Order: sequence, then structure tokens, then C-alpha cells
Amino acid sequence: MENRQITTYQIDDLLITPENQGADHYAKISYPFRYGRFSEIKSGNYTFQFNLNGEIKTIQGRGEGWLDASEWLKRTAGNDWVYFAAGGYTGAFDFTGEYYVPCLPYDSNGIFGQNRFESQEVIRAFEMWDDLRRRLTALETSRLPAPVKGLIRRITDMNEETLDLRARLLHDIIGGPVSVLPPDARHVEYDVIPLTIADGCLYNCGFCRVKSGNGFKTRKKNDIIRQLHDLRDLYGDDRFNYHSLFLGQHDALFAGADLIEFAARQAFEILEFGRSFMKDPKLFLFGSVDALLRADDALFERINALPFESFINIGLESADPETLKQIEKPLNRKKIIQAFNKMMDVNRRFPKVEITANFLYGADLPDTHLPSILELARNSLDHFHSKGAIYLSPLENIGSIPEMKTRLFDLKTLCRLPVFFYLIQRL
Ligand code: SF4
Repeated sequence: MENRQITTYQIDDLLITPENQGADHYAKISYPFRYGRFSEIKSGNYTFQFNLNGEIKTIQGRGEGWLDASEWLKRTAGNDWVYFAAGGYTGAFDFTGEYYVPCLPYDSNGIFGQNRFESQEVIRAFEMWDDLRRRLTALETSRLPAPVKGLIRRITDMNEETLDLRARLLHDIIGGPVSVLPPDARHVEYDVIPLTIADGCLYNCGFCRVKSGNGFKTRKKNDIIRQLHDLRDLYGDDRFNYHSLFLGQHDALFAGADLIEFAARQAFEILEFGRSFMKDPKLFLFGSVDALLRADDALFERINALPFESFINIGLESADPETLKQIEKPLNRKKIIQAFNKMMDVNRRFPKVEITANFLYGADLPDTHLPSILELARNSLDHFHSKGAIYLSPLENIGSIPEMKTRLFDLKTLCRLPVFFYLIQRL
């Protein structure tokens, strides 16, 4: 990213920077870090940042009245606010692989307790945002410098109704909200553009809270192109802040090499990821055990040759027959072991592909469940592998938090793969 001249204007007590820029690579850093290009307004103790369409993107406070200088609020393209908690939580990196924990305003896996959206500080930050919006709307802009005038117009155009409408438009384009993003999307702070290449899934497992309930069905190529053109129009100028793609829904891997390659390459062209401010594009998708087992080397060679680093997340859930029966997953232990071994093999042989695995965590699962994870992720491996993260996906009842932490740290110590918790985040 070339360095641009950054100009800040003072209008009354507001410090307005119409064009600002952050890093062009996502990094794992323990303090707030901004990526890509954005605009910024500082008002009192609050900093408000906006994407290139003028949509509010982040709010951060400081000093008295704010929770922690290293924590911030971020709005997603699905119009959800996420509170990025960092400072107040020791061990965040051990739990999630990141230096922050995204706290969500909707029911998710509430491992990290505390609903920040009920805190006075966060309520106050949203009041300040409403206040700023009112001030900008009432501001006489005719004599202001053109970049400031343009920014204020973009921000006031993106009022609450418009932001809500744009989120619904996003969901209409791809065929519904993304009920869950792959855990690997943490590598790009969940900043992905979603594209649906197949709906539904193969198994409709009893335990699953994110399934659509529909059988698996691929999209036609012309539908994929239609989505991409609509996404390009919707993201507009801000698409240059994105370089990562999520291929939905729950089993894009089962769509096969032709459709995956077609969708990824068309997305790269139509969304112009090559011109993105962000470098090192990433591709994320889910896959089922059967999709992984039927995938041949040619499929991985084609994914490996894409202009993306690709992450495929497979729901293994358990290698314990009793657990598989209890969670009503129509798979057997043999297939789970085969899929795990194939994951390790693909991770060894394809440098730009990483397959990761989900296993369930819940207080009501049989005692034989966690040992079944150890059997694969420890006993079957002779040394530590950095590729092939294991994500523990929490069920509704996770039991006592201290016990859960102890079990996670035991698994982290014993497993020969990275182990993290899966934070279920929608889009
Ligand atoms: S766990 Fe995966 S395969 Fe099973 S119902 Fe949920 S989305 Fe479908």
C-alpha cells in the first residue's frame, strides 16, 4: 500500500480525517489495529471510523467512561455489532488463537460470559454515536472542504434504516444470513465476502443449531455470477478493503472441484481482489466428512493453485461411537478416523491448503468423547504439527467454566495440533 497524505480537519470540536489508512496485512497483535482504508471522526473521548461507503465500522472510547483502551466495537456487513474484548481477559490467545475475544450481541456460545452490550460504557458509546449522527445531519456543510463535505454526506446517507436495508440486501443476494462463519475466518478478523455455491448439508445432525434443514443442492454457475455482480454493487468502493471470500453454506467442499474453482476465480476477478488494499487473499469454506473422503488429489491441486490461501473446516465432532450416536451424526468412527488422517495428509502435501477440524465440547457428552480426540490428535501423531487446528465447538450446556478451562488446557498440552475454542459468529 502506498503511503498517502493524511489530512485532518478540525470542525468545532470534531477532528475529521476523510482518508486514513491502516495495515495491508492482518496481524495477530495484542492492541487495536486497523486494516485497509477508512475515514475517521474523533469527538471527545470517542473515535468513530467509517468504511469507504461512509458506513460506520468501528467505535472506540478511551479514558474514563470506556472499559479498556485496547477494546473496541466493530460493525459487520450483516449489521451486527461485535465487541472485541482484549485487555480484561487473560489467556484470550490460548482460547481463541487471537489476542481478542469477539463478544456477540446475539445467542452464540457464551463461553466468555459477560454481555458487554449491557454495560453502561457500551450503551454510552452508542448514545455518542447517535449524537454525532444528529450533529453531522444538522451541520451547515456548504463552506467545508470538499473531502469533509463528501464524507459527511456519505455518513448521513448511511442512516440506521439504510444500514439495516443493506444487511438485508446482502442476505437476499446470497440466499439468507450466514448462520455461522468458519472458525478460520479469525485470521482476517471475520472480514470476508460471502458467496453461496451450495445450500443445505448432507447429514442434518440432531445436535446442530446452525443447519438450514434443507438437503444439499449446488447453485448454478449463472447464479454464482449473478451473486458476484450484486455483491460488487453492494460493497461498492469498500470492496477494495476485502480480499477474502467465504464459500457457503455448510458444505461447499461437496460442491466439487469445478464449482469451487469457478466460484473462487470468478470472485477474484469480479470483486477485484487483485486490486484490494489488503494483501494475501484467503478463501474459507466448510466441508463434510464425506466431501473430504471423496475429494481426490486433483481437487486439492486445483484449490492449491488458486490465487488464495485456502482453509477448509471439517466437522468431525467426535471419534467416539457413543457420542456420534448421542449427537445424531450419521457417521461412524471408521470414517472419522479416515477423515482425520486425510486432513493430516492434505496439510502435509498442499502448502496453500489448510484443513482444520471441529470437535464438540459439552458437559453432557459421554466420558469417552474427549479421549477419542486425544487418540487422534495425540496418539496417532509422532510430533507437533502447526497446520490442522482443532476447534472445540461448544454445545449449549458446557458445564462449569473452570472445569471447561482445565479440560481445554489439558487438551492443548497433550494434543500435537493447535487447539482452540470455536466462537460461533454469523454474518
Ligand atoms: S453439523 Fe454440519 S452437516 Fe451436521 S447438520 Fe450441522 S451443518 Fe449440517
